[in-house]
Amino acid sequence: MDQYPEQQVVVATGLSKQFTLGDTVGHALRGVDINVANGEFVAILGASGSGKSTLLGLLGGLDTPTAGRVQISGIDITNMNENRLAQIRNRRIGFVFQFFNLITTLTALENVELPIQFSTADNRHSSRQRATELLTLVGLADRLKHRPSQLSGGEQQRVAIARALANSPDLILADEPPGNLDTTTGEAVMGAFLDARQEMGSTLVLVTHDARLASQADRTLTMQDGAFVL
Ligand code: ADP
Ligand code: MG
Repeated sequence: MDQYPEQQVVVATGLSKQFTLGDTVGHALRGVDINVANGEFVAILGASGSGKSTLLGLLGGLDTPTAGRVQISGIDITNMNENRLAQIRNRRIGFVFQFFNLITTLTALENVELPIQFSTADNRHSSRQRATELLTLVGLADRLKHRPSQLSGGEQQRVAIARALANSPDLILADEPPGNLDTTTGEAVMGAFLDARQEMGSTLVLVTHDARLASQADRTLTMQDGAFVL
């Protein structure tokens, strides 16, 4: 995993994102540069509307910048076609969204298995085994057959983390993961990230409002009005 410790997982330069609403042009991002090294944990802080989710969406290839470039593990994803991009997202990037985005009709186990099955190489048996291991890692070994509606907010969050880890991504992107969870649950969720990091050497970019969570990071960056505060 740490064979090339100096390797950059994220290299993004001059990222800008403009939105046009009627006659006005809004700038969600104004020329942001960010590099994240292999195994690094970077926390991003900043007020609501400062551009954090926009930045994460661009780093994860969910959105395209108005200007600038994004490389993930040395692969330029900036103008990649949707098929290849979908492959990169599936194999190299794990997302933990603010509202979890779990599939409500599937069990915890099935939610985690799904991205493994999309990555093709694995058969049904090994995807089940892998999903079970990951849910065990995040402390949900006794919740495999539960559907999202039968899980607490913190448990759903941990399923989302397990799903993000499913294909051993180079990069995990998490947008305000503990949200409005209570302190104990928030700590359990953070523990799941830190365990994942220790077990799998994951590189983590985490958007959070919580200074306590950010204090666990190797590096903290603060956004304001579409740029990093220097
Ligand atoms: P944060 O995640 O830090 O709260 P966002 O990245 O979601 O901020 O948004 C940054 C700014 O860009 C905000 O002012 C927001 O209103 C604007 N914005 C984000 N997405 C869109 C969109 N699709 N259309 C227009 N404006 C947008
Ligand atoms: Mg946001």
